Amino acid sequence: MAGAASSPPGGRRRLRLRDDGVRSDTSAEQSKVEDIVQEVYNTFTANHHISQLVLHREKHLHYLKRGLRQLTEAYECLDASRPWLCYWILHSLELLEEPLPESVASDVCQFLSHCQSPQGGFGGGPGQHPHLAPTYAAVNALCIIGTEEAFNVINREKLLEYLNSLKQPDGSFLMHADGEVDVRSAYCAASVASLTNMLTPTLFAGTAEWIARCQNWEGGIGGVPGMEAHGGYSFCGMAALVILKKEHLLNLRRLLRWATGRQMSFEGGFQGRCNKLVDGCYSFWQAGLLPLLHHALYAQGDEALSMKGWMFDQLALQEYILLCCQCPAGGLLDKPGKSRDFYHTCYCLSGLSLAQHFGSGDIQREVVLGVPENRLQPTHPVYNITPEKAMNAVKHFLQQPVLSLQPKAAAI
Ligand SMILES: [Zn+2]
Repeated sequence: MAGAASSPPGGRRRLRLRDDGVRSDTSAEQSKVEDIVQEVYNTFTANHHISQLVLHREKHLHYLKRGLRQLTEAYECLDASRPWLCYWILHSLELLEEPLPESVASDVCQFLSHCQSPQGGFGGGPGQHPHLAPTYAAVNALCIIGTEEAFNVINREKLLEYLNSLKQPDGSFLMHADGEVDVRSAYCAASVASLTNMLTPTLFAGTAEWIARCQNWEGGIGGVPGMEAHGGYSFCGMAALVILKKEHLLNLRRLLRWATGRQMSFEGGFQGRCNKLVDGCYSFWQAGLLPLLHHALYAQGDEALSMKGWMFDQLALQEYILLCCQCPAGGLLDKPGKSRDFYHTCYCLSGLSLAQHFGSGDIQREVVLGVPENRLQPTHPVYNITPEKAMNAVKHFLQQPVLSLQPKAAAI
């Protein structure tokens, strides 16, 4: 029945889709997902209480560790995303508190050094052209490793030149030479520049204003000005503005309204856009907006903020991830019926971590659904590596000289 609520004893109130009697392709798909989630829930609660939910840590570790050494043919399509695989796996391992053997860490450093381009920045694999997305992933992976060897891989002079070569007169950045412009590139550039102490005002002149133009009538942020609001772009835009300390350029309350509206009232997970299906990876891209918004609204003196939790249902998100996104053989996924992969493993675990840890500094509150062993390490909501690793990287690069940009040669 449309709009029916099922609220099992001890469980939360789940609201099913209301289609007002008008069935469409998307409402049919939505109802199908709700039926599947209901079935998963019923099967689990037939024999267990929801407080007995378990994160299959050992299985996930096995899947991740094997992936670091050897990948199946299914990953051939990600040949241009190899630094991403390093980052997704290393970040998942750090969230699970699994130490990385020194020899493996050193091998990853060597591999990433081969992905670094002589022009600066990192490519998707050895010898490939540099691109901002693998550059972000490589820098994050190296900061997670956090050794002298890892930090020394990054050629800062060349990286700064590379970032500058992608900068556009309107403040935006290209993703790669002759490539497309969107909010991802602004975030990738701001993230690597801030971690490595290269956040020069010249490099980011106009960037914050350009990002603010990408916030649309929905309240969320699109890829470029005028585009539909999307979870990934919204996270990138907001996180970049936090780095640039210009969050106030956005209408934060409208972004908050949009982001909180993306948590699904039946499934508990998040959708990426309005009228789309739930997907485990948005547990980070969407839920990650809430800590950023919380801090920004707090700094503006917003009195409506709760000091008890983020402004989304943290338990409902944990329930969705633990119940619907774990592959029994290890690894996490989008939704029941989909295959596991390292991308979803990383972002489901990142979202789970965000949902378990509230606050920063003096105010900290943990809410761990299921057994206490489900607790993950906290993650930094801007960089999505652990706060300790982000701080170590910033400290390390603060000791390095501040680099200055050579003015671009005027076009002839
Ligand atoms: Zn996904």
